[in-house]
Amino acid sequence: MRRVKGRDTTPEMTVRRALTKLGARYRLHRKALPGNPDIVMPGRKLAIFVHGCFWHGHDCARGSRVPKQNRDYWVAKVGRNVARDAKSQDALAALGWRAETIWECDLKDAGALEARLRDLLSLREAERERAPGRLRGASRARGGSLIRGR
Ligand SMILES: [Zn+2]
Repeated sequence: MRRVKGRDTTPEMTVRRALTKLGARYRLHRKALPGNPDIVMPGRKLAIFVHGCFWHGHDCARGSRVPKQNRDYWVAKVGRNVARDAKSQDALAALGWRAETIWECDLKDAGALEARLRDLLSLREAERERAPGRLRGASRARGGSLIRGR
């Protein structure tokens, strides 16, 4: 079996697209950081791991499915990954970074993923209002006096 965590895997692309949509700027695969996070925002000191549920032992349906063949091997292997992930996150925290994990199964619900990313980026209400339509619509309803006072 091939390791899931390679460059440009689909789950990672999904997260990157969602971040771009939110206007976030990021870098990829900073090898200098513990655990080689998938997505890095140096300005925010935010490191994001996009993890496959099986490989990284997520506590979800997909994550707890272990192949029947060589069961002990897979359990041990995933266990090592989980231990390494925890160590990387501790090391990042010690360097003052915030480490967040987005799971493969989180990507099924695009709305929830966007909400989570907004939360991570701490986008405020004012920035959300800038979304096309909402603000303009509200002003127009009040008489469209946007240019008054200029
Ligand atoms: Zn999962």
